[in-house]
Amino acid sequence: MRRTEGHTRYAGGLSPGQPAGRRVHRSPRSLPHGGKLLRVHDVDGFGHLRQADRFEGPQEIGLIRGREAVGHDSIPIIREVQIVPPNVIMKAMVTGALRSAAKVAFRRGGGIRVARWLNRHGLRILTYHHFAGRASLERQCAHIRQCYTPVTMEQTAQAFAGGKPLPAKALAVTVDDGYRDFFEVAYPVFQEFGIPATVFVVTRFLDGGYWLWGDRVKYAFRHTPLERTRLELPDGTVLTHELPDPPARERAATEVKERAKLLCRRDCSTFVDSVAPALGIEIPGSPDGEFQAMSWDEARQAAAGGMEIGAHTVSHPILSSLGSWAEMAEEIAGSKRRIESQLDRPAPHFCYPNGRMRDIGPATAAVRDAGFATAVTTEPGVNRAGADPFLLLRIGVESSYPPAYFEQRAAAVGI
Ligand SMILES: [Zn+2]
Repeated sequence: MRRTEGHTRYAGGLSPGQPAGRRVHRSPRSLPHGGKLLRVHDVDGFGHLRQADRFEGPQEIGLIRGREAVGHDSIPIIREVQIVPPNVIMKAMVTGALRSAAKVAFRRGGGIRVARWLNRHGLRILTYHHFAGRASLERQCAHIRQCYTPVTMEQTAQAFAGGKPLPAKALAVTVDDGYRDFFEVAYPVFQEFGIPATVFVVTRFLDGGYWLWGDRVKYAFRHTPLERTRLELPDGTVLTHELPDPPARERAATEVKERAKLLCRRDCSTFVDSVAPALGIEIPGSPDGEFQAMSWDEARQAAAGGMEIGAHTVSHPILSSLGSWAEMAEEIAGSKRRIESQLDRPAPHFCYPNGRMRDIGPATAAVRDAGFATAVTTEPGVNRAGADPFLLLRIGVESSYPPAYFEQRAAAVGI
């Protein structure tokens, strides 16, 4: 059985051919804050518990926090679920207020400098997605140059393979998905500052005429003429949203995307396909505006200009939600092949879509099999010597962050 870090652990179905539906029984484990971890079994192959479901355990009733099992068919996945009793929720709110006050004191006392020094031997990997404008990104790049040593994922791979160690205060910049604004806005800035970013591209997205599924949901909510929407999930649950203003539209799209992420691939596709018609709009054949991908030609230019192009699957599915090992292996290996044939250079770095441990499941093995040297997650943290190069932690940032907040996050404080 493979163990992974964090609240999620997987067992069963880690290799092809393992019988479906294998059950592993473990007793509940206590958490430091008084919550409880219970094992939930992938009994029927599609046994989802949803985020807001109430769970009645033998001793306590609480809200289930986190996502639930989506393993099925040949990839049964067993997840741990955190049961949070109401008194713990109250305690967390009080602790949260104290923590905010502590953060201000920390910042004023030069704590970020101290955190940078304490983590000086670790590797920080920043994750960007979109880029709105140059000015703020330029400030961030100036800060990176001043306080860190930019490294490539290639240097990272060599260091983790026992080669030349990374320099002190190493920082790698990564960009997910391959949107066009990377090429138009960020690439010239990264080049100017000598920061070698790695862009993890969804290969079908760069092929053209393909929407990332989350963007279709976002587009539908932004453009619907309706002020009240009603969507039905495959299990019959109805989601309704009032849309009085643009922030409400964004919130609704986010909630619908999060609900869709809980579904298996097939149900997710069917549900996402139903969103635009239910909202009374038609999605354009090709994504435009901020939803546009860069072209392969632009990816080639960026690679020639010192950026690395990594793989982020063929179509951006949540890998643990796929129905078979073969489908998962093809999403992973297929994206590598496509990049290598388009760019005529190796693509040894991989990025898991959505990227939390629960989204990765048994994919780490498929990533190794496909010949990658590193793989990044969206689990937060700084990578120390001896970390698993196929489960590298990252720090999510946005180019629009105010300077103080960006500097704090880059130092891995409060992530
Ligand atoms: Zn992505």
